[in-house]
Amino acid sequence: MIRAIVLDIEGTTCPVDFVSETLFPFAQKNMKAALLHRSSDAEIDGLVNEAINEWLTDSDPTSRRMLRQTTQNPPSTSEVEEYLQHLIQSDRKSTALKQLQGIIWDQGYKSGELKSPLFSDVRPQLDNWNNSGITLAVYSSGSIQAQKLLYAHSKEGDITERFQHWFDTRTGPKLDHQSYAIIAQKLGAQSDQVLFISDHPGECDAARKSGMKTAFCLREGNPHQEPRNHAVVHQLSDIDLGQINDPDNNQH
Ligand SMILES: [Mg+2]
Repeated sequence: MIRAIVLDIEGTTCPVDFVSETLFPFAQKNMKAALLHRSSDAEIDGLVNEAINEWLTDSDPTSRRMLRQTTQNPPSTSEVEEYLQHLIQSDRKSTALKQLQGIIWDQGYKSGELKSPLFSDVRPQLDNWNNSGITLAVYSSGSIQAQKLLYAHSKEGDITERFQHWFDTRTGPKLDHQSYAIIAQKLGAQSDQVLFISDHPGECDAARKSGMKTAFCLREGNPHQEPRNHAVVHQLSDIDLGQINDPDNNQH
């Protein structure tokens, strides 16, 4: 029988475009203001210096041209801001940028400017599972800190209490079946007592390979619309744990 349910976030409990349409533009818009706190905030000052170090070793031609055009050495705060905006626009990975975005989102959530949208079926179904004694866990590629912020400041209120366990990619990559074996172990359950729900068929494949049961969450607007051979649910209330518990009905 299913004792624990592990849920992905984006595309499963929260619309995928919240990140692209709300979170990233919010960080972009507030980057300048955040960097202005550099002189009074040691954490931000440290991250600006980290961004400068990344810039010095950045081989991207535009980044190099921008560095040659700086008027100060080391580059000024506003020059660093232009560099960070370039990274954002070209969708580049940067540790310093990611941390700065995290700080900006943290402030946005706490001030009430940012609120995460959840699909309307999510909160009631989490309550049902909580009431049935099912252990609930989050596994998302966003950091655990970001997961908790998102669920603490949702339009449905603070729902962090519904979850007993939190996992991010520090446990392992979401496409690696070993990550799911570690999660089952940390949940204190056999893999086949755990249901994993995600909108990503590759993640569902990895979870199944570890022995977990799977449900592919197919929401309108999701980039992944092809469930492969996983059970499809359009909302969390479609899930019938009784049916999943019956091995004859679950595996294809
Ligand atoms: Mg997802």
